Amino acid sequence: MSDIINILPDNVANQIAAGEVVDRPASAVKELIENAIDAGASTIQLIVKDAGRTLIQVIDNGCGMSDSDARLCFERHATSKIHQADDLFAIRTMGFRGEALASIAAIAQVELKTRMHDEELGTCVEIEGCTIKSQQPCSCSPGTSFSVKNLFFNVPARRNFLKKDSIELSHIEEVFRRIVMTHCDISFSFHSNGKLLYDLHACNMLQRICQIFGQQYAERLYPVDESSDVVTVKGYVGKPEYVRKTRGEQYLFVNGRYIKHPALSAAVERAYTNLIPDRLYPSYFLTLSVDPSRIDVNIHPTKTEVKFVDEQAMFAILRAAARKAIGQFSLATEIEFNPSTEIRFDEIPPVSNNYTPPIPTINYTPNYNPFNETPSSGTKRTGGSQRQTDKWESFYGSSKKESTVEAELPLEAPKETTSNELPSDMVCLQVKNRYIACATQAGLLLIDQQRAHERIIYERFANAENDLPAQQLMFPLNFTLSPADSDLLGELVDDLHHNGFAIERMDNSNTFVVTATPADFDENDLQGFFEEMVTDYKGCMMQKFGDRNHSLCRSIARRMAVKSGRELKLQEMQQIVADLMKCTSPALSPDGDPVIAIVNEERLANIMKGKI
Ligand code: ADP
Ligand code: MG
Repeated sequence: MSDIINILPDNVANQIAAGEVVDRPASAVKELIENAIDAGASTIQLIVKDAGRTLIQVIDNGCGMSDSDARLCFERHATSKIHQADDLFAIRTMGFRGEALASIAAIAQVELKTRMHDEELGTCVEIEGCTIKSQQPCSCSPGTSFSVKNLFFNVPARRNFLKKDSIELSHIEEVFRRIVMTHCDISFSFHSNGKLLYDLHACNMLQRICQIFGQQYAERLYPVDESSDVVTVKGYVGKPEYVRKTRGEQYLFVNGRYIKHPALSAAVERAYTNLIPDRLYPSYFLTLSVDPSRIDVNIHPTKTEVKFVDEQAMFAILRAAARKAIGQFSLATEIEFNPSTEIRFDEIPPVSNNYTPPIPTINYTPNYNPFNETPSSGTKRTGGSQRQTDKWESFYGSSKKESTVEAELPLEAPKETTSNELPSDMVCLQVKNRYIACATQAGLLLIDQQRAHERIIYERFANAENDLPAQQLMFPLNFTLSPADSDLLGELVDDLHHNGFAIERMDNSNTFVVTATPADFDENDLQGFFEEMVTDYKGCMMQKFGDRNHSLCRSIARRMAVKSGRELKLQEMQQIVADLMKCTSPALSPDGDPVIAIVNEERLANIMKGKI
């Protein structure tokens, strides 16, 4: 049999590798800005056109490159940052793999202009799909400018796979935020389609957070500053009263690099135990400084995952540091703290010295195909999509068939059911200020009051054919969002009008004015409400079947629903139960969580027999 194996040509290999390094414009932006930081720049400009599809340009005043380095930098495994395997344990630069530029050049037309500070002339290299088209001397400022044009020009499937501009731009913005937040000594600017979105000057971290998220953050945060042998933790944690409904504003950095680390995030969240309600999340912006030899940053090509040698100690330190910050600055929380359970920094277990860090490996996913998009398995079910044939009569009528817990929940109520069919003297009891219990034909019905109310409100808004009634505000309210978020909210304005909001964007700026809200809408902290709405919307649009109105109505329902923990009057409970019965999908909240549990007769009997 003849040989069938051949070595892939470089341009094909680079294009495949590029899929892992550059999957959307935001990843190219990240690599280029990180290179500029590694080059020691004090000023970095980012310019994008059409959310990076047409152009991504990063200009820095860093060290620049020599003529031959300017060609060599596009080769795979070309890096000036490590020379031998041992260097991997002492990485202080953002990059080190030497594959970013090779990957970008494989899938775009790139123009590089660079000049070292002690040279009179710079050099200009043009490269397209891995082939150098030209190199000639040019006059340019000291430093480096990369222009990446027509990203994915030779990978049309990938180009089509990109989301619409507003979503891609918000990814770029997120990447930009993650970088600029910990590089406060560097000035950054960010232009999109000729518009200046960010103009950040060198400053401290709190000022930088405020430059990015708005001045109001100065009052929302407590400082954290703790050092131990293992790690130094600095930054800010959100005050418990400014919790959010999503984990959006949780930023953890290790040695200047943004990371995702569920265990360490949990450590910070643990510090808020008993201070904030369930399903709400604190904001935090924390930088950890760790000896590079005690981390393995190399476990994922995009490098947001990190392994720590001293993970347990880090967990304890982080939680203690956050608790201390919250406790120290807030009177209310001091009472909550039990001093005997407080962790002392000097009690944190010492670092073991006989640990040898593992040799880092690069993980490629052999069957990775960037063009296959499978809907995330974590996607929650949302109302409206579930159909089952059980009838509500099984609760109230004389149906012989008994519902069993959850398995036969009626996900679909018959349209003709009305509240009149409910017994007007229906007995309802509130349990733990959270659940409504009612005795029905089918057994004991337990309803989660908040989820039920969210479902009711959600359907009222989602099913409304005409514009919903608005309630004029006494005084118009203004709020300001980040530039990309403003564009996203701009996309929602028409739907907001339909749902009873009178909201306008002021002269294409990032400020919005609200003059009316839906009836019964709580107008406190409208800014927070719209921030969350945009975060939800972003999340929703990332899903394959994301639906704008679903996202919007879900945000409104969350805001307007009675919350867990609120005591309800009998009449209110009866109303909720009656309204829930009229819903199309009463069994699920708009987030896809169960609303109702039924404990049928058999189960009740088993409970009484002690079987459950
Ligand atoms: P890495 O950053 O992992 O080394 P890259 O492919 O991103 O790999 O860059 C390759 C090399 O090109 C870098 O190691 C650096 O020497 C050089 N380089 C890239 N960008 C710049 C820049 N903006 N200024 C100076 N040198 C740069
Ligand atoms: Mg790099």
